[in-house]
Amino acid sequence: MNKQTIRDIDLKGKRVLVRVDFNVPIEGGVITDDTRITAAIPTLRAILEQKPKSVVLMSHLGRPKEGQPDPQYSMKPVAAELSKLIGKPVEFESDPLSDAAVEKASKLDNGAILVLENTRFFAGETKNDTGLAEKFAKYGDVFVNDAFGSAHRAHSSTEGVARYLPAVAGLLMEKELNFLSNAVDNPKRPLVAILGGAKVSDKIKVIEALLSKADKVLIGGGMANTFFKAQGHKVGKSLVEDAALDTAKSLLEKGVGKLILPIDGVIADDFKNDAKTQVVSTAADIPDGWQILDIGPKTIEAFRAALSDAKTVVWNGPMGVFEMPNFAKGTNAVAEILAELTGKGVVTVIGGGDSAAAVQQAGLAEKITHISTGGGASLELLEGQALPGVVALKDK
Ligand code: AMP
Repeated sequence: MNKQTIRDIDLKGKRVLVRVDFNVPIEGGVITDDTRITAAIPTLRAILEQKPKSVVLMSHLGRPKEGQPDPQYSMKPVAAELSKLIGKPVEFESDPLSDAAVEKASKLDNGAILVLENTRFFAGETKNDTGLAEKFAKYGDVFVNDAFGSAHRAHSSTEGVARYLPAVAGLLMEKELNFLSNAVDNPKRPLVAILGGAKVSDKIKVIEALLSKADKVLIGGGMANTFFKAQGHKVGKSLVEDAALDTAKSLLEKGVGKLILPIDGVIADDFKNDAKTQVVSTAADIPDGWQILDIGPKTIEAFRAALSDAKTVVWNGPMGVFEMPNFAKGTNAVAEILAELTGKGVVTVIGGGDSAAAVQQAGLAEKITHISTGGGASLELLEGQALPGVVALKDK
């Protein structure tokens, strides 16, 4: 990585402002998954080891209407959870834009930790308002961006604030950038990419980028249907993006010899878990009224074979409607294949979002080399795009 990190800068006696990604799921004030908080702990400990004056954390949480505080998205429970995880008191500031709050924070000492209220409660955050960024900047002498999951957005708390303070990467940010960029730009080959999920249009740029960088690209999930239709097959009631048919055709041409589509599928007579199902070849037409909801057993074996000599694997997007247990087999099988490959020394990287959730659900998270904390950010990075939150940091 060509950006400075907290290892390249002296934090002793400094007020350190850290943008973290504490956008955790919360139900009724209870955090249901603290993965993102845990993921920031190594950075926070490394900052504390340098004996800063104070550490002030900020993050967005959920999607409140911007500029309108909404108690269900308050960071207060996050501050309490962080205190438990890091084993130190953590203060919370509900009104961070007030002069009184800035004054109070300036008195923090001996590495005291303060969490600010949800950055999206303040007007201008997602528009990268400079006035708001300047107000956030009052909390630090140095800015550390550890929020990889928000790095693809130029917001006041990610990109804007970095213009007012010396800005460096945290350890999670560094780890994410290294794993994801190395996986596609400097991989041990063969590099095999697996892409799934609902829409081709969301992932065209990733498919294109990976077709030029990977040795094989395996396609599953709902997006495969658009390719089947582009090949001239009937797909029944399956999810298809007619507007992306031409794109799918050109990707099929560009991908000859590299792009591998499912050869069979689990079809259902309704979009529900207890629908009637059949396994059919995708070379045959899908009957009217039926829809493909998962990859079939022959595809799982074909994907296993295509992955057998891989040295690096990158995966983004489920192979079927994995939220319904009867259509989760393909996704779970891919998770298991990746876990096995990791055991044999293959570098396996999961690009966040649904595939990360599937691996976690299957209890296989420990057996994957790297699971990204940022779905959108990892996709943009795999596309080869620069992330504004990263560009704003100091060069090495
Ligand atoms: P994405 O956000 O594009 O990664 O898509 C994830 C969503 O794709 C999940 O909610 C899956 O249920 C859905 N999905 C995967 N396969 C299919 C399919 N064959 N038909 C409809 N939806 C699907």
